[in-house]
Amino acid sequence: MITSSAADKLKSHFRGELILPSDPRYDAARSVFNVAIDRRPALIARCASPDDVIQAVNFARQEKLIASIRGTGHNVAGFAVCDDGIVIDLSRMKGITVDASARTVCAEAGCNWGEVNDVLQAYGLAATGGFVSVTGVSGLTLGGGLGWLVRKHGLALDNLLSADVVLADGRLVTASARENDDLFWAIRGGGGNFGVVTSFKFQAHSVGTVLAGIVLHPAAAAAGAIRRWRDLEAMAPDESTQGALLFHMPDDPSTPEPLRGAPIVGLGGVYAGAVEEGERVLRPLREYGPPLVDMFQPAPYNTAQRMADFLWPAGLHSYWKSSYLKPLSDDAIDVVVAFFARVPSRRTVIVLEHNGDSAWDRVPDSATAFGHRTWPYNFVVTSAWSDPKDAERNVTWTRDFFDAMRPFAAPGAYVNYLGGDEGADGLKAAYGAKLAHLAALKAKFDPANLFRMNLNIAPASVVGA
Ligand SMILES: Cc1cc2nc3c(=O)[nH]c(=O)nc-3n(C[C@H](O)[C@H](O)[C@H](O)COP(=O)(O)OP(=O)(O)OC[C@H]3O[C@@H](n4cnc5c(N)ncnc54)[C@H](O)[C@@H]3O)c2cc1C
Repeated sequence: MITSSAADKLKSHFRGELILPSDPRYDAARSVFNVAIDRRPALIARCASPDDVIQAVNFARQEKLIASIRGTGHNVAGFAVCDDGIVIDLSRMKGITVDASARTVCAEAGCNWGEVNDVLQAYGLAATGGFVSVTGVSGLTLGGGLGWLVRKHGLALDNLLSADVVLADGRLVTASARENDDLFWAIRGGGGNFGVVTSFKFQAHSVGTVLAGIVLHPAAAAAGAIRRWRDLEAMAPDESTQGALLFHMPDDPSTPEPLRGAPIVGLGGVYAGAVEEGERVLRPLREYGPPLVDMFQPAPYNTAQRMADFLWPAGLHSYWKSSYLKPLSDDAIDVVVAFFARVPSRRTVIVLEHNGDSAWDRVPDSATAFGHRTWPYNFVVTSAWSDPKDAERNVTWTRDFFDAMRPFAAPGAYVNYLGGDEGADGLKAAYGAKLAHLAALKAKFDPANLFRMNLNIAPASVVGA
């Protein structure tokens, strides 16, 4: 419970919006991307500035409230919202400034990647970002940041130059290689465990126009198509980041027959180099089959970043499972194809990513809290459905699929793709041997574990490390 005198005190200095359960905006303000998440915070503090964030953090600490941090609310585990505590909501903090000569961009914590890359495109620049445009800069970067430029320029966090962070004690500090370097190490992979980041400064890159798209094959041809993709990926230059996706085409009049509602395997992504060279490199992928449709074409990077958005619309119930893979074997591909053949929901997408053998794994493992750069392939099952009654069927299928993939799984997981129910196993999978150092840093920066709505790293004093 929040006392009205405490809330009044916060209100007197807060420039943003304070939304209580009685507020007509409350239900919209507590909803997140995954509609299966239904949490009821005591207060949503929609911050307008770093000063608001400081006040919200101080308020949470003084009132002994659990605090969750919301970037854009895209995290499938729903960590952005909590029950009975305070949501420190950054979604209205959307300032973006570009230094074109230094090729850097500063983005406030409420931005998504589409917004950042729209601004950068005018300068012929792009930031690494994600595979879709609507994912938040904040959570994506703090957990890692896989996207269409990962093989050429690394993760989003590999391109982070500095971040402004409000710590649990209310201090606003800068973390970079020169200032608070231990905090800088921890936030690059350690998620929202160490404080509230109010803004990020990234290295941007000259990208301009890329060759982007996808070739579509019928799902019946998936085993051969995925093998072909895997074999070509093994030789692909850093400029090329391509994935294999199993999904159903939209079942609506905008999709021409015979594709409408069809189960599909798509092979595609971005070639971030000279378009003519991309045409040469991607020709064997595009000619294989031949495909039903070849949608590759030159595009501005900010357009290319939106090409997969339609696969993950908001407003669905979601449950995800993910793991890195040991080299992607034929047997693993056969399991993927067999499970897709009996997927219970047409909204579910299975993604096989190839991020490695590239700029991504040339960063030393010790450089950041992010781990597992040794595993080049990753798979993520993004189960989604619209009727809550279908939850059990979909969750069971997802878990069975994940279990069937265990023989091929590497001992590591990408924190941003976890579904939230992995507990201690998920923590170990995400951080492995780095966990003890992270727990020591958690004890330094957040000893009372104020920030625990996340894949939580307990402070070392608590776990006795
Ligand atoms: C449709 C979809 C597509 C995705 N695509 C990709 C992809 O291409 N690449 C990829 O790497 N990941 C991807 N993800 C996963 C994504 O990186 C995570 O879900 C990430 O947490 C989203 O960040 P957010 O700020 O939107 O999340 P939120 O739900 O707002 O926040 C998630 C958590 O991150 C932490 N956090 C957020 N903001 C801050 C902050 N400013 N300071 C401190 N902690 C903070 C908090 O712990 C918070 O609870 C995708 C997710 C979805 C749903």
